[in-house]
This record gives sequence, structure tokens and C-alpha cells, in this order.
Amino acid sequence: MPEIPDLEAIRHYLMPRLEGRTVTTTFAPIPWLIRTGAEDLGSLQGHEFGEIHRLGKFLLFFVDDGRILIVNPMLTGRFHWVEAGAKKPGMLGVVIGFDDGHELRYSDQRRMGRWYLIAGPEELKTVPQMEKLGPDVMTLDEDQFVALMKKRRGQVKASITNQEVFAGIGNAYSDEILWTAGIHPHRRGATLAEEDWRRLFQAVRSVLEESIGIVDETVQGEGLGRKEEWRQHMKVHRRAGEPCPRCGSEIRGQTRGGSETNYCVTCQPLFE
Ligand SMILES: [Zn+2]
Repeated sequence: MPEIPDLEAIRHYLMPRLEGRTVTTTFAPIPWLIRTGAEDLGSLQGHEFGEIHRLGKFLLFFVDDGRILIVNPMLTGRFHWVEAGAKKPGMLGVVIGFDDGHELRYSDQRRMGRWYLIAGPEELKTVPQMEKLGPDVMTLDEDQFVALMKKRRGQVKASITNQEVFAGIGNAYSDEILWTAGIHPHRRGATLAEEDWRRLFQAVRSVLEESIGIVDETVQGEGLGRKEEWRQHMKVHRRAGEPCPRCGSEIRGQTRGGSETNYCVTCQPLFE
């Protein structure tokens, strides 16, 4: 599932290409992806796209009449920016053509992504999952972060990936962040001290900022469409059995509910 660095890279790639472009054609081969109705998509014709923002794991495309096209690519949603005649990808779900001859295409192997077209920011809360969405983690300062986390008594990985506490961190980056902070993913919030929360905040910032730079560079070089997420730079996530880059111990992997958690038992002791 794409997380903040992936979505920021997609946003940085698309914004200079889309901003100021007028929609000329629309097509929804998988109409139910557009939850507010596929006929909505057609009403974008003749309108200009503006800025693109990100909120948690959603991308928000602003339209010149104030409307906002919102996309949550979920597990396998993938964007493509290609010339209109380019070969079509599998599971093509949505196509928006622009006046420069390019198409913004969206494919989704598992067809779990969600699109919404709303009248303006006042309708954001009508979008499922946004209603209870916490503040975007990148907008929090250290004190705000610590204040939110101090209330969380449960397992720390579950807390930092809970989109109602704050939005944007998922399974992959939570592993990287907890490893960087030296905190076991299953440590309970109740056992952590204020200095642990502060160290965790610094890890959130350093891991995400560094990764945004790395993924941005990759996407600027390769373009979109090959992947929906970029993971090569990760140090522990999906590296079970490999040596920890910090201490050399073997990285552990535990799978629960279909998602894997990776950590180093030496650098991230469960009890202190
Ligand atoms: Zn280690």
C-alpha cells in the first residue's frame, strides 16, 4: 500500500504536468471505483486541474470550479501519465485525457481503490474514512505528537498506524520508524516514557523526510506506472532473515492478518 513517501513522489511528479491543463475526455472502464458516481467523471470535461494535495493516504486533485477529486489508491492503485495512444495497462480503471494529448490513467490490480468527487473542502468529512481521519502526521510538531501518543496504552505499532490518531503511516514505514527509534513494535504505550515518544517523533520525521527524497528521485527518473510503492531503500521492512544493518542480528518477521512486521530483537528489545 502506498504510504507518504510514495504519494508525495506521485504528487510531485504529477503536479507540474497537470496544473493548468484542461480535461478533454474521461472514461471509467471500472465505473464502481468512482464512489460518487461514474457520471461525475464526465462533468470534469472542460475544467482545469489545479494543485494536488495529500492528506494521509489520500491524494486530492483540485479542480478550477472548487471541486476536489479524491483518490485513495488502497493496496494496488497505480497512476500512469502517458500519451493518449500508449499501450493500456491491465485492470485500467479510470482515464482522464488532457488538452496536451496526455492521459492520467489509473489501474488497480485488486480494484480496491476509491475515487470521490466532492463539491469542495466542506464535504471532505462526507468521504468514508476521512470522517474520522486524524491530522496528517507531517503537520504535527513534537509536542503535539507526544500529547497524542501519551494517551495510547496499546501496542505502539498499532497506535502509529491507526489513521484516527494521525494519518499517513502504514505497515511498511512503521517498521522503519520503530527500528530507527529502537522501539519494539509490540511494546505497549503504557511502558514507554516521554523520552521514548520524543525519540519516536524524531524517527518519524527523519525516516519520512529521507524517504520522500529517495522515492522522489526514483520517480523523477523512472516515471510512474511501474510501481505503486517504492521499497528498495528500506532497512528492515520485508528483510526477515537478513542481518540488521545496525547490529548484525537477524531481522525477525511476524505475519498477522496478512501484513508482516519486521524488527531487530537486539536493537528493539521488548522489555526494558
Ligand atoms: Zn539490530
